[in-house]
Amino acid sequence: EEEYREIAPLLRRIQSQNEQLKQDQKEIEKAALIRQEFTANVSHELKTPLHAISGYAELLENEMVKEEDIKPFASKIRGESSRMTKLVEDIIDLTRLDNGGDEMKWEDCDLYRIAENAVDSLEVAATALGVEVTVDGSDATTRAIPQLIYSIVYNLCDNAIKYNHSGGSVQVRVQQTSYNIVLSVKDTGIGIPEESRERIFERFYRVDKSRSKEVGGTGLGLSIVKHAVIIHNGKIEVKSKLGEGTEMIVTIPK
Ligand code: ADP
Repeated sequence: EEEYREIAPLLRRIQSQNEQLKQDQKEIEKAALIRQEFTANVSHELKTPLHAISGYAELLENEMVKEEDIKPFASKIRGESSRMTKLVEDIIDLTRLDNGGDEMKWEDCDLYRIAENAVDSLEVAATALGVEVTVDGSDATTRAIPQLIYSIVYNLCDNAIKYNHSGGSVQVRVQQTSYNIVLSVKDTGIGIPEESRERIFERFYRVDKSRSKEVGGTGLGLSIVKHAVIIHNGKIEVKSKLGEGTEMIVTIPK
């Protein structure tokens, strides 16, 4: 009995280490599966525009395109190429985030100014779609990774413009509370169905695949946003009404 009393804690430790190992193994298997799925998706997403581009090029090469169709064909090739470029850029961003954003620098930065910059770079796209974007708030300085904050606002605002109606609007707001900075992007767009609200943050998930492609989406924007928010120890909340609009609210601790 005495011997047992001596080895009992040891046995318990071995048992708990065993459980931990099993758990780790499961996590590793899950991560491998996610990576495999991601690679398959990426290949598929890259192949589609490539096939389209080579198809159009082949028709042009064989002079099978009427004079008046040459320009629209060229536009299609350009459209598919820029979709591929966007996809490659998003994949690079995601890979950096997967590595924990280690090489990214934390700095004291003003989130309001960053939001303004992100909105500025979307102004042409917004005007083209007939969507008005406004930014309000005031200085909101905290320690953060500026390029990730830019990426958060850019992607949310880009979606708010893309999934909107002509004549619609987008309101970007930066507010400070005692402990947090709240970034919100509110649109008057198509809204997100209840059952999709969790899934939109998954890589390559789209509510309406053809609409996403039509507006130049990659299906990666919100997974980049989610990652960037997590790195800042923040959270993101979705409020949406079908046919009325969506509000994305990001809270980042100061
Ligand atoms: P995408 O490149 O397709 O826009 P995202 O990851 O940014 O990919 O978003 C995933 C999906 O979530 C989109 O395809 C779209 O269906 C939906 N979505 C995102 N933002 C909005 C929004 N503001 N209004 C309506 N739907 C949205």
